[in-house]
Amino acid sequence: MDPFPLSSDHVRWSRTKIIATVGPACREPEQLAELIRAGADVFRLNMAHGGPEAQQESVDTIRRVSAELTLPVAILVDLAGPKFRLGDVAEDRVFCPRGDLFYFVAGEPQAPNEFTTSYEPLLRELTIGDTVMLADGTVSMRVEGKQRDRVELRVLNQGIIRSRQGINLPGVKLSAPAISVEDHQHALWAGKAGVDFVSLSFVRSPDEVRTLRDIVRSTGSKAGIVAKIEKQEALQRLPEIVREADGVMVARGDLGVEIDVARMPMEQKRVIRTCQEFHKPVIIATQMLDSMHESPRPTRAEATDVANAILDGADACMLSGETAIGKYPREAVDMMNRIAMATEETMRGRPLRKLAEADDGLHMITRGVVRGAGTIAQIVGAKLVVVASHSGRTALALSQQRSFIPTIGVSTHDSTLRKMCLYWGVTPLRGAPATNLEQLIRHMDVWAAGAGLTKPGDSIVIVGGSHLTAGPDDEEMAAGVHDIVVVHEVEAASD
Ligand code: PEP
Repeated sequence: MDPFPLSSDHVRWSRTKIIATVGPACREPEQLAELIRAGADVFRLNMAHGGPEAQQESVDTIRRVSAELTLPVAILVDLAGPKFRLGDVAEDRVFCPRGDLFYFVAGEPQAPNEFTTSYEPLLRELTIGDTVMLADGTVSMRVEGKQRDRVELRVLNQGIIRSRQGINLPGVKLSAPAISVEDHQHALWAGKAGVDFVSLSFVRSPDEVRTLRDIVRSTGSKAGIVAKIEKQEALQRLPEIVREADGVMVARGDLGVEIDVARMPMEQKRVIRTCQEFHKPVIIATQMLDSMHESPRPTRAEATDVANAILDGADACMLSGETAIGKYPREAVDMMNRIAMATEETMRGRPLRKLAEADDGLHMITRGVVRGAGTIAQIVGAKLVVVASHSGRTALALSQQRSFIPTIGVSTHDSTLRKMCLYWGVTPLRGAPATNLEQLIRHMDVWAAGAGLTKPGDSIVIVGGSHLTAGPDDEEMAAGVHDIVVVHEVEAASD
């Protein structure tokens, strides 16, 4: 494959990364290509809808389309985690009036006010006073009585429930493991399939993130582990979970049911701040452009939600049903890209975000060089910052400064290039190793001019490594010490 393929697409895409969920509305090769061209950086495969066989097809198609377009795209496999569901309800739809009694029962339901659940120990583990939320939080019930094979529930907020909908149990202590047997199998498949990120739903503790990492690593995969924050318990242990994860998702669909939705906006901001403290990419997910399931235009509130998430510091915004089952998947990606670009325009010239002394695995010299490169690029008005990165960590650190000047993350490793697809402001580009600075500069001159990003006289800041500084004894870091900053002035092409 041609290193440094020329493309002017890079100037059309937002610095904020866009995650598109794959589903029936966008899984054909041409549809996926359309989403990539519109600005999708990462595709999410939701394991709650389709097992490894079906999802392997999507992995293969995404890889093929990405290679044809010579554009790296990452794949995030989203494990279902301990999500409990209702069994079938009478005629698939039951109205639950306020004040009425309903029952969780073992065995077959005998009446329309009896339900079953996919989580068999639930009858044992619910206690009187617990709250049960159904139908995406629109229906709530309180446990009022318990017998051995029957739990009595009183409707507090009335509404309609449907077969197989999710059950949320805010604050209820359950014995269900964070990683079910099925999640375990799916994680092994994801590792072997070579995906780039694996996310775990309903995380409650940092141990669960570690356990998932161990499972994924057992396949030889270096996929990043993303912790989905959607439970009160996760909010209580937020810094520990963020430290342990490679990325974090604010999963607002379930979070907005597991905690009072009125508290959710400020918790979203707290998660973003915590991720900034630990230099971890953070994804804001669910209902970002929800009305685009049915409409080619979002509501004003949705456009504002996306813009505010970016201003608060989100690295990526996610589309769920909008791209998976909506009527306007391409328009949704295009709209998110346009909102992001309009929002980012206001970030031009802002001071760099100060990098905290986080335990992010960066060598001290690299950290200093990253800070220096960001400042130098601003002083000289550089058009680009270029970093040749082995593991992608230096590119991530540059991204965390939130410089408006685009960062080009160069690597010879496809997996590193795909990880960079999640890093704000970083354009992954296949190319020369960090050690060969002269070659890198020559390539960047041609590439950046060809992509319409520079003209003669413009400056490019290049972050590289001399290999005079020994890296720590860590495979990921071995080639990762960056100890050189070069300011290069683009020359007129000599022909
Ligand atoms: C969410 O709850 O917001 C989420 C992203 O997870 P899922 O789509 O699996 O419900």
